[in-house]
Amino acid sequence: MVEKKDIEWGKLGFAYQPTDLSYVSIYKDGEWGEGTLTPDHTVTLSECSGILHYCQEVFEGLKAYTTKSGDIVCFRPDQNAKRMHNSALRLCMPPFPEDRFVDAVEKVVKANAAWVPPFGSGATLYVRPLMFATGEVIGVSPATEYQFRIFVTPVGPYYTGGVKPVKVRISEYDRAAPHGTGNIKAGLNYAMSMKAGVEAHEGGYADNLYLDPQTRTYVEESGGANFLFVDKDGKLVVPQSFTDSILPSVTRRSLVEVAKSYLGMEVVERPVKFQEVRDGEFVEAGMCGTAAVISPVGEVDEGDKHYVLASGMEEVGPVMKKLRETLTGIQSGKLEDKFNWVHKIDVD
Ligand SMILES: *Cc1c(COP(=O)(O)O)cnc(C)c1O
Repeated sequence: MVEKKDIEWGKLGFAYQPTDLSYVSIYKDGEWGEGTLTPDHTVTLSECSGILHYCQEVFEGLKAYTTKSGDIVCFRPDQNAKRMHNSALRLCMPPFPEDRFVDAVEKVVKANAAWVPPFGSGATLYVRPLMFATGEVIGVSPATEYQFRIFVTPVGPYYTGGVKPVKVRISEYDRAAPHGTGNIKAGLNYAMSMKAGVEAHEGGYADNLYLDPQTRTYVEESGGANFLFVDKDGKLVVPQSFTDSILPSVTRRSLVEVAKSYLGMEVVERPVKFQEVRDGEFVEAGMCGTAAVISPVGEVDEGDKHYVLASGMEEVGPVMKKLRETLTGIQSGKLEDKFNWVHKIDVD
């Protein structure tokens, strides 16, 4: 058994704290280097590096945690590997091999086993893979050198005082362009939506709900989470983007499977008009992503109009609650892992 760090796990927030080792691999002369663990948590760059000028950067986010039986695991890392591969291709970056991605996640988590919060603390070890252009470019073109890194940092539970519904607002900004880069996980999308996010927070909202950037008619997603709805018949309604600008959330895709296979629910994946929200067609709504799993949405505001979901601002709706409990139950080992999603990391 690894001796754990002396940390008040339950009191951790969501802030970066360097741990023992990070993983780094360098791309040069047309290939990815062997890769290694390093105690150096800094990066030294040329002022002419591609990342600093033309923003070639993609990232991922997943968590490692301890199950009831004491295993250190992470959730569907192969999906993060695949998504980062796709993100890289979209920005003309050399993809990091998917099998090596999973192997690197295992290595870095294992090397930092002392930082993986114990079962029951609610805390997790956040795993952040990232890749960026280090090579020098002055004319606009893809760089020829890159760095792939993974660092880990312990983070506290997303919800401390129990899961509470949040309020979101329709944004007057767009998060992504139609057929742009909204469907990849890249820092540039976050730069795009930062002003909107800050203004939403200042207004007392948890996040923005972005409409489709072409017609401003359909629901897309928030700054960092996908949307889900429950209609009056109890069906799970999952917004699709006809401009291909929704990020394919691993949590959302997992919840769709959970709804179908574990809960026997009907799931409809289709474009969702915002008018349906205005008309009160949905009884529950939620935002989903790795960090929160599901944040129930109790109210959506559009200017001075307030649309309150039937589930309201006091309680989590029954379907969102069930979905959340089932997915977290699979993750923690309390429920059967039918699809082999929970990936064990051998830490001897
Ligand atoms: C990361 C992210 C999500 C959530 O994806 P998960 O894989 O479930 O964590 C949703 N939307 C955006 C824009 C994201 O960047």
